[in-house]
Amino acid sequence: MSEADFPGAASLLGALPPDPRASNAVGAGSFHAMWAELAPIGRHADSGGYRRYAWSGADADCRTWFQAQAEARGLTYETDRNGNQWAWLGDPLAGDAVVTGSHLDSVPDGGAFDGPLGVVSSFAALDELRRRGTEFSRPLAITNFGDEEGARFGLACVGSRLAAGQLTKEKAYELRDADGIGLPRAMEAAGYDPEAIGADPERLARIGAFVELHVEQGRALDLSGDRVGIASAIWPHGRWRFDFRGEANHAGTTRLVDRRDPMLTYAATVLAARTEAALAGAVATFGKISVEPNGVNAIPSLVRGWLDSRAADQATLDTVVTAIEKAARERADQDGIDLGIVRESFTPVVEFEHALRDEMNRILGGAVPVLGTGAGHDAGILSAAVPTAMLFVRNPTGVSHSPREFAAEDDCVAGVLALADVLEGLACR
Ligand SMILES: [Zn+2]
Repeated sequence: MSEADFPGAASLLGALPPDPRASNAVGAGSFHAMWAELAPIGRHADSGGYRRYAWSGADADCRTWFQAQAEARGLTYETDRNGNQWAWLGDPLAGDAVVTGSHLDSVPDGGAFDGPLGVVSSFAALDELRRRGTEFSRPLAITNFGDEEGARFGLACVGSRLAAGQLTKEKAYELRDADGIGLPRAMEAAGYDPEAIGADPERLARIGAFVELHVEQGRALDLSGDRVGIASAIWPHGRWRFDFRGEANHAGTTRLVDRRDPMLTYAATVLAARTEAALAGAVATFGKISVEPNGVNAIPSLVRGWLDSRAADQATLDTVVTAIEKAARERADQDGIDLGIVRESFTPVVEFEHALRDEMNRILGGAVPVLGTGAGHDAGILSAAVPTAMLFVRNPTGVSHSPREFAAEDDCVAGVLALADVLEGLACR
């Protein structure tokens, strides 16, 4: 496929020679065709990025595409009570199923690969296995989990969280988008029954293994010179809201010494977050802010900033966030600012199942790099209930959640073949 098939792609192609099996694999051709079909859906003409938000028109088009792929392959298609899509080869009720898939929704102006690469690769891997004449001894399913990115309602992995019982129906009903539309209304408008949502333990109990292929959201594989890697763990991460309250006043007439300006405290806290994260080898980001009264000529009365922080382990994350909070409180005292800090969400470390991870590494020849990630995934949510693993495909830019997100064609095909090998190894034993 040409670079035009990869919107926003940088010309950073891998230095590795093509996988010699790629030219024979049917997976490569079917990957290309599916990728071309999916590429225009929800793509914004100006930014080149994707706006595939949960239960939107673009999301519906992606879902229609998924169903068509399932039906074209003679798979049994269904949506579950939470609106996640499933395409089954074999008996969905038999149990011990091998499931693969990812998500088709996007962040605002997201890249083409985060999510769709896993879904497209799943169908392509199945095509490859059919070319090989693989006989399956376990049911196989491909999934598209709904609302993974949380771009519309502010909570990530809604479809898998609901299924796993980590988000209750009551809490889900409180979710609102920027226009004030609630999740139930949005689901209903898209033709789904919001009354049905909730934990789905019977469905999860029928899954023997879940493998999610995903574009890497960092440069570890680029640096190691590998096309494909296996996930070790998802870093623990959380979101904290910092409310800095001062006093609104005139920007022209209020002497500096008389001000209680929460923007100063906020700014110092941002710098402290950077310093503490760097010291600990973690990450910390203030990426969202709201200001009141939000006037050019007004000293703010309130600055509200959201901290996202992640680290390789819980102790490190605790250390970083505690240090940021301490710095913020000390500065708030100096500035005469009232500070409130609320932890809005938290996801503990997810260690992917070692036995499945080791088996995948054995299936793939034993030399596949194993790497951690700071990004959350449906696989991480499901890991509480199901043996779960992830495959990563090299992303030479390391950029994600941006139109610059990229994976080269050879690497995508290598991902399809690795996934096909893993599914064959798991589902034919
Ligand atoms: Zn994703």
